Amino acid sequence: MTDLAQDLAAFITAAPSPYHAVAEGVARLTAAGYTEQPETGPWLGGPGGRYLVRDGTLLAWFVPEDAPPGSPMRIFAAHTDSPTLKVKPRPDTGAAGWRQVAVEVYGGALWNSWLDRDLGLAGRLVLFDGTTVLVDVHRPLLRVPQLAIHLDRQVNQQGLQLDPQQHLLPVWGLGAAEDGDLIDFLAGEVAVDPDEVAAHDLVVHDVTPPALLGEEEELLAAPRLDNLASVHAGIGALLAAADGVAGVIPVFVGFDHEEVGSASATGAAGPLLETVLTALAGGFDARGAAFAASRCLSVDVTHAAHPNYLGHHEPAHRCVPNEGPALKVNANQRYATDAPGAAAWHRACRDAGVPSQVFVSRNNLPCGTTVGPILSTRLGIRAVDVGIPVLSMHSARELCGVADPGYMAAAATAFLTDPA
Ligand code: ZN
Repeated sequence: MTDLAQDLAAFITAAPSPYHAVAEGVARLTAAGYTEQPETGPWLGGPGGRYLVRDGTLLAWFVPEDAPPGSPMRIFAAHTDSPTLKVKPRPDTGAAGWRQVAVEVYGGALWNSWLDRDLGLAGRLVLFDGTTVLVDVHRPLLRVPQLAIHLDRQVNQQGLQLDPQQHLLPVWGLGAAEDGDLIDFLAGEVAVDPDEVAAHDLVVHDVTPPALLGEEEELLAAPRLDNLASVHAGIGALLAAADGVAGVIPVFVGFDHEEVGSASATGAAGPLLETVLTALAGGFDARGAAFAASRCLSVDVTHAAHPNYLGHHEPAHRCVPNEGPALKVNANQRYATDAPGAAAWHRACRDAGVPSQVFVSRNNLPCGTTVGPILSTRLGIRAVDVGIPVLSMHSARELCGVADPGYMAAAATAFLTDPA
């Protein structure tokens, strides 16, 4: 495995929930000398690297020495969340001698992909005193068992029908379900008093480690490539951008809640990025000019052309793994890309020596979207949508080319340092 793909695999494994993705990002930024800007404290300002955390969202930026007030910003925006199953407030349930965990579907998950996998559980416990404790059971704990074919003879011909209320409940052992069982167990995992646990945000995750695939090991199979591959590339690009950047301020943001529409206090439609960019611009009066000269790279995975379903792809805009990240274009602003943004992206790829592709969806299929159009709508900052191609998007386990994450990070570094 290339060093970068290896590091991406480690990042993904360390980040089974958005809170863990933020914690891993903070660890990497701290190791590089970044210090925290507390959200509730005064603006610290000054040159150097800082980060700001709220829940599952992470912002970080690097102010070069002698950056004048109102310097344009170059922003890398991605998201920390992935489709999954989220534990309900009262999780303990069961039937027929099985103990089960009650879950809701989070985001546009491919439900079938969660069947018959060894699943862990991760997220945060919040104690009565307000303390947040991260928890990650990173070993097989749960399974959503599929019905045997003998009891569903038509499943292969008629397709799998799943009722998310009835058919997606994981089992986690045998016996009678008792209220408090799951939280007692999780509190024990992190050595806190279960009676002090007041609430939780917990998601399931596949514990199978990321793996290289293919004769030449040119593919990477992993959970949460959407969108931890982009978060990982963005943090790497920000750290690399500190080297010699002048005239612009590089900014990274990884938002929570993209998979459910971004409308939350920590989502891309919330005020967090605007608050930070306004402070970086030197205040409300200066921000109009600074925002007008700023640019945002909205980074999220895109569809690789599926060899078994070629008819679902626009023939002249098919994307292939290991041929570089794709520029994403949509006439109806499902992607924010316009010609000046596209030109800035092509310039970044050229400067970085990175190949690039173009993704456009078919006219007769709806186009996906991501944080780019939301951010440009909210802030008036030009955004350009890009991302590496993957197969099996929103599956519990996705597939990408092993070279593309490195291409993405290199192009992003050029974008974040581009004074033009
Ligand atoms: Zn995504």
